[in-house]
Amino acid sequence: MKNYKIETQCVQGTYKPKSGEPRVLPIAQSTTYQYYDSDDVADLFDLKSATHMYSRISNPTVSEFENKMALLEGGVGALAASSGQAATTLAILNICQAGDHIVSSSTIYGGTYNLFAVTFKKMGIDVTFINPDATYDEIVQSAKQNTKVLFGETIGNPGLNILDFNKFSRAAKTMDVPFIVDNTLATPILCRPFEHGVDIIIHSTTKYTDGHATSLGGVIIDGGSFDWDNGKFPELVEPDPSYHGIQYVRDFGKAAYITKARVQLLRDLGATMSPFSAFLFHLGLETLHLRMERHCTNALKLAEFLSEHPGVSWVNYPLLKTHKTYDLAKNYLPDGGSGILTFGIRGGAKAGKELIKHMELVALVVHLGDLRTSILHPASTTHRQLTETQQVSAGVLPDLIRVSVGLENIDDIIDDFDKAIRAVAK
Ligand SMILES: *Cc1c(COP(=O)(O)O)cnc(C)c1O
Repeated sequence: MKNYKIETQCVQGTYKPKSGEPRVLPIAQSTTYQYYDSDDVADLFDLKSATHMYSRISNPTVSEFENKMALLEGGVGALAASSGQAATTLAILNICQAGDHIVSSSTIYGGTYNLFAVTFKKMGIDVTFINPDATYDEIVQSAKQNTKVLFGETIGNPGLNILDFNKFSRAAKTMDVPFIVDNTLATPILCRPFEHGVDIIIHSTTKYTDGHATSLGGVIIDGGSFDWDNGKFPELVEPDPSYHGIQYVRDFGKAAYITKARVQLLRDLGATMSPFSAFLFHLGLETLHLRMERHCTNALKLAEFLSEHPGVSWVNYPLLKTHKTYDLAKNYLPDGGSGILTFGIRGGAKAGKELIKHMELVALVVHLGDLRTSILHPASTTHRQLTETQQVSAGVLPDLIRVSVGLENIDDIIDDFDKAIRAVAK
């Protein structure tokens, strides 16, 4: 499947039924697997056999979803998790422990920010947040002796700034740490970070992968590119006492990281994706290429319409020429800027809150990335507990409206915004 174009991979890869087996990926709703004799089970426990032992660690339906994600991103292996947050947690804890340090771009998903700044801190893992506009030298200088990860997001939140992969990946190389990127909003259809020097990718599959707002899930994909035997990651190189001395780099080569994440961390923490969710995500991937194409064209048309609207003071979308990282977007997202845009309504916070009430087709939803267009006024909802000064420093301006542009006819979407903005803008 590797030699086919990504659209073909979405539709046909990687599930291959044998003669007489279901054409569509079946749901293996089983916790448990049966064997002929005890030697088969012994091989499983020694990690010499690739079949399944227990669904906390692996399951046939979940494996098919993982294989397809690895194919689409171009990685050597993938690990599904119960949510995007679980995927990020496992991705970091696989290589960091108390006393370690991570460097992260500051413009990341709010949940990830909290995980790094509050929960990891409690666990003894320290974080330094850097402005994504920091120079190469500033990024490198933020590293300490105990730094283990450089982290960023393809499309930042809420500024929708595009990650400068070249600058960050060069910095990670100099820092001698893996470069981990959250590619949720771009999906492998719009951006394949492994082609830009990234070592590990994570996704919240809850968003565009699902695409229909049915299920929570996450995934980690290993690019197989990082050399773990550099003195900083002894857990990947030295014998693992919980597997009678297995050595991940020696025994699993390029798949050392993703194997350890499964057999050690997923086994112990149990943040597992359910087979039914994996079935839905796998189904979602079959149309991801088509859906992303329309999300992108609809979002660009809405962004262009809003830019001309008298009731709108500013519009932020990666592929608008006025966007502050437009050149990076052109370079890294040549096929489209994804489906999220933000704009400022004239009349500030009051008008922003009022606008929601005047929308008919477009619904107020905290989620993003599904096929129905949705809208959110963060200042009066998700960020209402913050003071206005705190809101502004988090990038949440009082007049900011966030739109997740869906797959309805664009004329209907535009009409809905036009009527509502005319009714409330000052
Ligand atoms: C939603 C989201 C997450 C968290 O994923 P969950 O599935 O909600 O746990 C992480 N990163 C990004 C960019 C997201 O949009």
